[in-house]
Amino acid sequence: MIKIVKGRYKRISMKVDESLDVIVKAPRRVADEKINEFILAHRSWILKQKNRLIQANQILDKYDFNKYVYVLGEPQNFSNILNRKNLYYKVAESILTELVNRISTQTKLSFSGIQITHSVRNWGSMDRYKHIKLNVKLIVLSRELVEYVIIHELCHGVEFNHSKQFWYVVEKHCPNYKNLKKGLNYYGGLLRTNIY
Ligand SMILES: [Zn+2]
Repeated sequence: MIKIVKGRYKRISMKVDESLDVIVKAPRRVADEKINEFILAHRSWILKQKNRLIQANQILDKYDFNKYVYVLGEPQNFSNILNRKNLYYKVAESILTELVNRISTQTKLSFSGIQITHSVRNWGSMDRYKHIKLNVKLIVLSRELVEYVIIHELCHGVEFNHSKQFWYVVEKHCPNYKNLKKGLNYYGGLLRTNIY
C-alpha cells in the first residue's frame, strides 16, 4: 500500500516501513501527478527495500526467543532462567569484553572502556574518548558479525567518521567487511525485537 502524506516538507521523500507500506512525504503544493511520477521513477528502489525487509523478517523467523537464549548465533539451553534480560546482559558483558580485548590486542587499535547497552538504534558506537558502547543483542549474532562490529567501532578510534579513509582502515583489519556489513543490515529488525 502507498500512503501519501502532504505537509510542510521541503521536497518529496519516501520510505518503506516495517509492514511493507510505502510512505511518501511531499510538500503541499506538489501536484499528485508529480508524486506519482516520483513513485514510478523509484519502482526498483521500492522493490529492493521490500525484498530487504522480507529477507530480514525471514532471518528473525529462524530464532525462537521464547525457548532459547542465543550465544554467538547458537541456541543454548539454560536451566532455571529467572531473568532473561539479566542473563543476556551477563553473557554479553563477559563475551564481548573478552572479544574487544583480544581484537584490540591483535589489531593494536586502542579503546578506553566498554559499556553494554540496550539501544534500539545502534549495534555499537565509540566516542571521542575511545569509550566503546556495544549492544547487548550483539551476542545473538554470529561470531563473525560481532567481530566485524567490534573492529568497526575500534577503527573509529583512528577515523571518527565514515569516510573513505575509515573504510580503508576497516578493510585492513577485516578484508571481508563489505559482506559482513551487508549481512548485518538484515538484522536491523532485531534491535527492535523483544528477545527477553
Ligand atoms: Zn561507524
